[in-house]
Formats: sequence, structure tokens, C-alpha cells
Amino acid sequence: PDSVPRKSNVKLPPNTSQETLDAAITALTKFLGKDGVEINNKPLVDGWYMEHPNTHDAYHVIDQEEMVCSAITYPSSTSEVQAIVKWANEYTIPIWPISMGRNIGYGGAAPRVPGSVVVDLGRNMNKVLKIDGGNATCMVEPGVSYFKLYEEIQKTGLPLWIDTPDLGGGSVLGNAIDRGVGYTPYGDHFANRCGMEVVLPDGSLLRTGMGALPGKNGEDNPTWESFQHAYGPSIDGIFSQSNFGIVTKMGFWLMPASGHQSYMITFPREDDFPQIVEIIRPLALKRVLGNIPQLRHAIQELAVTGQPRTTWYNGPDRFPREVVREGVKKLPVGDVSWVFYGTQYGDEASIFSQLEIIKSAFLSIPGSKFYLPSELPSDHYIHSRVSVCSGVPVLKELDWLNWKPNAAHLFFSPIVPTSSSHAKIIHTLIDRLHEKWGFDTFPTICVAGREMHYIANIVYNRANEDEKRRARGLMREMISEAAKEGFGEYRTHLLFADQVAKTYGWNGGALRRFNETIKDALDPKGILAPGRNGIWPKSYRGKRWEL
Ligand code: ADP
Repeated sequence: PDSVPRKSNVKLPPNTSQETLDAAITALTKFLGKDGVEINNKPLVDGWYMEHPNTHDAYHVIDQEEMVCSAITYPSSTSEVQAIVKWANEYTIPIWPISMGRNIGYGGAAPRVPGSVVVDLGRNMNKVLKIDGGNATCMVEPGVSYFKLYEEIQKTGLPLWIDTPDLGGGSVLGNAIDRGVGYTPYGDHFANRCGMEVVLPDGSLLRTGMGALPGKNGEDNPTWESFQHAYGPSIDGIFSQSNFGIVTKMGFWLMPASGHQSYMITFPREDDFPQIVEIIRPLALKRVLGNIPQLRHAIQELAVTGQPRTTWYNGPDRFPREVVREGVKKLPVGDVSWVFYGTQYGDEASIFSQLEIIKSAFLSIPGSKFYLPSELPSDHYIHSRVSVCSGVPVLKELDWLNWKPNAAHLFFSPIVPTSSSHAKIIHTLIDRLHEKWGFDTFPTICVAGREMHYIANIVYNRANEDEKRRARGLMREMISEAAKEGFGEYRTHLLFADQVAKTYGWNGGALRRFNETIKDALDPKGILAPGRNGIWPKSYRGKRWEL
């Protein structure tokens, strides 16, 4: 659904007349220049992953024109970001910072409050500021993608790895502050950050961690990217999944290049799922497993071939289990129900001994089979896993979007204890609700020692209003049903932020009150990303902004 003529004019920020917006934009243009500000009045184009819009959510779950910005700004420096923030305070216009704005499945570049001004940091602030080969660290600006960081490191010839998510086009910094994940031992992106520079909602500038201590002769502190804390409370966390500041620089730890061996284990029965989870827990707790492995349902094997759903099944109802079986029988994996993708790290001898332990644990499940990438055809998905799990960014994961025409996706991603009983509960709940709302179930489970992220992937046709309605209904019901079991999402699309935030309601919403106290103290005018992660500034609360 590309380039449909606009139904309405520029979406105005709340309580702002066209005249006020015009005056504000004129004032902003004066110090950012003509190229620094753009009004969002052209037809909206969804584009595709590599040419994504900064005007709206390319994967819209509601009307494409609902959550749009009024204008986009392109700062070139931290001081320009500070100036934009001061300008927003002066005109009480909400701003919505994005790094690169891909964020697919979670809202893309769309602001939560329609008519906000998007601050597109990535276009002009896209430098790798530092790569330290000795300490294996780097510092980046918001516009540095995984591809770019990877290339810059390659140019240095240093034996360093980055950690990339499934798709490599996103912002390293943006993904980390949204607490995204990847698949090497450095897969927890926020945990592997070190040092931030943040523009606060009043326009002032803060450095966290050792960056707070000036280096010799006014230089940056030499341990800014080495030690995560400063003296006093650890505050970095409050700038992740929040609206308390705009991050303009961020340091990261890089992984020294390592030997690695990916592998795949298949399991024949649907009902093997709880037992697989039980086997993973001790292996992950003892850190025998080298990364956060993925367990996928066999239907994903069909989807990642990049073939449309109709290759196997043309019915409007759910993809039948028998058809999955018939389909995978023809693939190299054969007649299986679950597929486990793991990777081990280290030298050859230690990888060999780790694999012996892993094999003997999993192969206790009757009918399970172990494969190395060399045993699978060159077009099999495992080769893309090998890249991702050794820090090489890829785009392969986009292939399963061929499943439906105009496909977009939403993730439902609850945190669940790593145990067989909880595995059964969550899987049954998700599958039952997918059936009720008429969607195929695409489970990918990222299993760690103490908890697992159950990622249910709702693939819907953006051009079909009824499918969008059902996708929303499914999300809402899964969020509330899972919360009753004690399972909450680690991240969600901005449309469901309020509902998810509300599930974290222990002690009458103590967490929410704490967040609101910080928000009101830092951002009294409520200009920075109102509503992000369900945190509303005072001026918006109780005015029916919550969805
Ligand atoms: P991606 O990393 O996929 O390109 P985004 O740039 O859209 O993703 O970042 C994801 C979300 O994180 C944004 O919608 C925004 O709310 C927030 N965000 C991104 N970059 C910053 C930043 N530098 N400062 C504050 N918030 C940010």
C-alpha cells in the first residue's frame, strides 16, 4: 500500500494551531537551515526495510495516517539537539527522537502523540567516534547501523566482533536503548553498553558513567567505555525504554573474535517442547550454551525459505499442522516439529567437548537429530544463523515476510520462567488465542537459563483492515491473558505500551508512580516523547491519552 494520497493535511501537535506550528517551524528553520526541517505533508510511503519512512509506522496496525508526525528535524550535532529541545519547550510542542527509525514491529518511526516533531538523529549524526582495539570498545552516534559498525571495524583489520540482531539495518544505539537483543555472547545490548551522553528534556547535557569525570586536559575520560558506573546511583538504566533523555553518544563493549561452531538439533513431536525447555535450563545456567539459542517451530522452516504461504496452503483458515508436516518433509530438516539453533564459542577442543555435552543432553529425546551447517544445503537458513551468531549483519530474516501479501508483523514477547510447566502454559495460551483470532502461530523462543523470551510473531496483511483489527485484538488479549499468569512483555509496539505498562502494576502501580515522578521532575513541560513506554507527563495524564 505505497504512496496513497493523503486523506488529511499536516497533523497538528496537541493544543497547537496551524499558525503556531508555522511560526515555530520558521523559528526552527532559522537555526537548523532549510535542510534541517521538513514538513510531513507528502503522501506516506511504506517503502521497505532498507528504505523505511521517518514519517510514520511502515508496519501500521491502525490507519496509516493515525500516528504521524507534523514535521521532521535533522540535527547535525549535540548542540543542535539541545537547541531543538529548548525550542520544543518554548512552543510546548512534543518531540519524538529516533536514531534510524527502523524499529520494525514496535512502531517504526511513528510518534506516540500524533503531530509530534520527529527528531531524526541518524541522518546527520552517524559517525563511529572511536574504536579501541586494545580494550575492545567503541563509541557511536545514533545513525550508526550494525552494517556500518561492522564495515568500520573490518576497515581497521582488528579482530573484533559486533553483536547484531536478526536484521542488521537498525541503529546500534537505538536498539540498545530499546533493550534489543542479538545472538553472540554479547547479545544483551543494553548490558554491553558503556557510557552515554544524553540531552535532558530541558536541553542540558549529561554524561553517564566515567564520562562524568573529565579526563586530563579536558579530554574524554579514558575509562568512559571501560567501566559502566560513576560514583553514586547507577542511572544509565533510566534512559532505556523511557522518555527521560535523548542519547547522542553511546559506548559499547565489543567481543574479541573467537572460534565458533553453529549447529541445529531437530525434534520430531509437537509435545517435545516442554522437555526441550527442561534440557536447555541447566545447560544455559552452567553456561555450556555459548549464546542465547533459538528454538523455533517447524512452520518457521517453511517461512524462512521465502516462499509465500500459498506455496503450501491456500485456505483462509489457520495453516494446518498436517500441511506443516507435509511441507517440512520435503525440506532437509525432514518431518520435525521443533528446530533448535545454537552456537558454541572458543577454540576447537573446547567447542568439541561442549558439543559432546550438548548432544548427549538433547539426544535423550527420542528421534532428535543433530546437524552441522556443512551437512545442510547452502541455501538453508542455518547459514544465516552462522553469520548472525558470529557478528556478521544480514537481511535474511526479511524473507519470511513473503508469507503474506503486504506483510507486516507484530511481536508479542512475554518473559516466562524456563520450565516445562510454564512452557506448556504460555504455548497453549498463545496458540489458542492465535486460533481464536485467525492467525498462524509463529513461535521463536529465546531460551536463557532462568527465563525465556517467547516471541510470537503475528504476520498480517497491512492492506486488509479486518486483519489489522484482528491483529490488534489478538495482541490485547494475549497481553491481558499472559499477565494473569504472571508473564509480562519485555518490549512492545507503541500502540500497546499503555496496556503493557499497566500490567506492571504491583502495589497499586508503584513503578508507574516512580516513573512519573522522574518524568515530571526532568520534563515539566512534557515535551519529550510523551507516552513512550506508557510514561505520560503530568499535562497529558487523565486526558484520555492512554490506549
Ligand atoms: P532502530 O534502532 O531500529 O533504527 P529507532 O531509531 O526507531 O530504531 O529506535 C527505537 C526507539 O527508541 C525509537 O522509537 C525511540 O523511541 C527510541 N530512541 C531511539 N533513539 C533514541 C535516542 N538517541 N534517544 C532517545 N530515544 C531514542
